[in-house]
Amino acid sequence: MNKLNPDFMYIKFSDCQSLHDGIEAIHSYKFEGELYDTVVPIQSPKEGSVKILLCSACGHRDFNDNGRFMNEYSCNGCYRFVEIKFK
Ligand SMILES: [Zn+2]
Repeated sequence: MNKLNPDFMYIKFSDCQSLHDGIEAIHSYKFEGELYDTVVPIQSPKEGSVKILLCSACGHRDFNDNGRFMNEYSCNGCYRFVEIKFK
């Protein structure tokens, strides 16, 4: 795993093609049904030393790259979509 920067927020996801888990630094995100991009940093619990994106609906912290659109992931808890802008 790459060295993680504690000033960044990360999204954890699995890739439906390779089944590899990923963790990537994000710039901002927008959950489906919400009208605005939220730019990090926001309040979020830390996992280890870094902030991890949580689902705004159910609080799940693992997402799935479902391949519907680029940079779109779905929550593994409630399947809500989130669009990610990566750093
Ligand atoms: Zn969820």
